[in-house]
Order: sequence, then C-alpha cells, then structure tokens
Amino acid sequence: MDIGGSLAKVVFFEPNSKADGAEKKKRIVTKHDLTRNLSSDSDNSDADDNFEMLANYVLSNHYLGDNGIRDQRLEMHDQQFHGQSGTLHFIHFLTSRMDECFEFAKTFRLPDLSDVVCATGGGAYKYEGNCKEILGMKLRKYDELECLIKGIHYIYAHNPLSECYFWEGVTSDGSSPNARKVPYDFGDPYPYIVVNFGSGVSILAVQSPDEYYRVTGSSIGGGTFLGLCCLLTGCETFEEALRMAENGDSTKVDKLVRDIYGGSYDKFNLPGSTVAASFGHMMHENKRKQMSKSDLARAALVTITNNIGSIAMMTAHAQKIQRIVFVGNFLRTNDIAMKMLAHALNYWSQGTMKALFLEHEGYFGAVGALLKLSD
Ligand code: ADP
Repeated sequence: MDIGGSLAKVVFFEPNSKADGAEKKKRIVTKHDLTRNLSSDSDNSDADDNFEMLANYVLSNHYLGDNGIRDQRLEMHDQQFHGQSGTLHFIHFLTSRMDECFEFAKTFRLPDLSDVVCATGGGAYKYEGNCKEILGMKLRKYDELECLIKGIHYIYAHNPLSECYFWEGVTSDGSSPNARKVPYDFGDPYPYIVVNFGSGVSILAVQSPDEYYRVTGSSIGGGTFLGLCCLLTGCETFEEALRMAENGDSTKVDKLVRDIYGGSYDKFNLPGSTVAASFGHMMHENKRKQMSKSDLARAALVTITNNIGSIAMMTAHAQKIQRIVFVGNFLRTNDIAMKMLAHALNYWSQGTMKALFLEHEGYFGAVGALLKLSD
C-alpha cells in the first residue's frame, strides 16, 4: 500500500489459479452478495472462504464501495512473483476512508491469512496504530521515495513497450484536440528528473537505480487544485473539478501579457497569450461578473500546472538534465495538465527538454512497497 495525503493506493499480486489444468473461472460477486454473506454466517465461515469471496468481489468490479476504483486498464498479466505466475492489480480509494478499509479487512478476517502489509507514504506512519488496533496487523513501513523509484524501474522493465510516452502536437492551452500519445523508449533513462505530482509535489534527480536525491518540492500540488476548486466552485470530487475545468476558459480569470501590452512582449519573447498574472482579472468587478465556475476551475488547473512545470524546468536546468518524468495522481485522466506540461517544457526549453509520462502514474510507490516483500 501507499497511503498518501489524498489517496491510498493498493497493488496486489493474484497468482494464476488452475483447476484440473484449466484456468479456474472467477465467480462474479456484487456488493449485495458480500453484505448478505456477511450478515448470514460470518462467524462460522473459514478464512479462506471469506478471502475468496472478497477477492471475487474485488476482481469482478471496477467500482469498489462508494469511492474505491480498480484500474482494470492498468492490470499486468503474466507477471512472475515469488516463483508464481499471475496478475498485478491496481486499486485506489480516498485516504480519509482508511479506517473503514481496516474494518472491512477485519470483517473478512484478512489477518487470519497474512500478518504482513508492506506500506509506504506518510499514512504508513499515521495509520500504523489504527492498523494494529483494528486488525492486529503490523504495517512494515518503507520510505516513499525509495519505493517510488523502485516501482518506476520495475514497471518499466515489465511493460517496456507501452509504459512511457510523450505528447505530440500539443498547444499552449492544453486543449489540443489533435495531440497524440507517442511511446518513448525509456530503456536507458539516466539521468532523469522525476516530478511526483501528488497532493504536494516532490522533485527528484535520479542518476542510477540506487543513486537519487530529492532536489526540491512544492506544497502547491494536486491537493491545492482540488482544495481551491471545492472552495471556488462548490464541487466535491476530483472528477467533478476536472469536468468543470474541461469546460472552462482560464483567460476570463487570468490576466495575460496581451491584456497588459495589447500584444506580445517581444523583447523577451513572451507571446501575448502567456499568463502574466494568474487570477489577475479577478481584481476587477466587471471581470468577476463575466466569469463562470468552470472558468475558475480551469484557471486553478492552469495556475498549478504551469507553476510546477516552471519549477520542474528550473530544477532540470540546475541539474543539467534533459528528461523529466511526471508521475502522481494529479495527472490521472488529466489530459489538459499533461498537454500543458508537454507544451510548456518544449516551448520554454526551445525543444531541448521533453516531458515524459508513465501509464501507471500514481501507483509506483505501492509497487515499490510490494517488491519489498522479496527483499
Ligand atoms: P498522495 O500520495 O499525496 O495522495 P497522489 O499521487 O495519489 O498523491 O495524488 C493525489 C492527487 O491526485 C489529489 O490531490 C488530486 O489532485 C488527484 N486525484 C486524482 N484522482 C483523485 C480522486 N479520485 N480523489 C481525490 N484526488 C484525486
């Protein structure tokens, strides 16, 4: 597990089950089946039956409970782990629901089957006591940045053809309807910068598999985006915030170079469309009357994305590194932010730097923690 400031990520390995040489068919279990089973004979059933029921529920649903998601598109088949062949699964849910997760695991008597949970992220420390108290299980804690790097290298090595990509044909505002994802060969990656765009942001320089350091970070990250959107628009979820941003126009909120110069600022090569002051129009009453909540959501997205893009680029310059890999769940289903980062890096570095992205964007820490089982 990787228990972060916003989301808890769970990665687990499912060994291939064989019955008489054939793949055993999984039973579909709904939330209703689960509840019925538990209310009937949970005290009498044995731990293996309970676990099979839970596993079948998890594996036959995309949405788990009221906020969990199993990312089926990211599943990795035919993986070898602890001498067995099987599938890696990827799940996330809100960290604010951790205690319910422990209660759920207790109901299904997970502690009867295993006494080890490898965990990383700040929550591994914060929830250690609750895990012990509710489940009687010990969390084995690991450093989150070490797990992140370990996870990136493992996943890339096992999914080399489609894990890493960049965006081609992007425009500055992130709309770019004709942009396309292009696979990138990350086989010889060193050195590179990793920007972990989570609730907050950490930026690391990676020189080799075991040689990396945290260069800097920012408290202005995905948590800031969601927090501001909730405040400014009344939305409740990340998905809602992104939907609003997709329909918004940030130029109604931000003051651009052309709003000040009447055009571009040529001496320093600043196009008129460059943001001069994020949220700068909001000092004027008439502008406040003209904007919508979606415009505010888009402006929040643009502000936070550009700010991190700029810090990432300065870090890369200072470290003399050209490749920047962006990970973290802020990028989850967030094509606008990825395209903006791709455009900004390419434009401001005059094509010398590339923004790279990884398909398993927010799961690398949890993968690294799982790999610790083998250490
Ligand atoms: P952390 O480890 O700090 O939780 P993540 O890499 O998981 O960091 O990213 C968290 C960020 O991802 C949130 O701040 C938010 O911007 C974004 N996000 C993506 N999906 C969700 C979601 N379903 N709920 C909340 N935030 C989400």
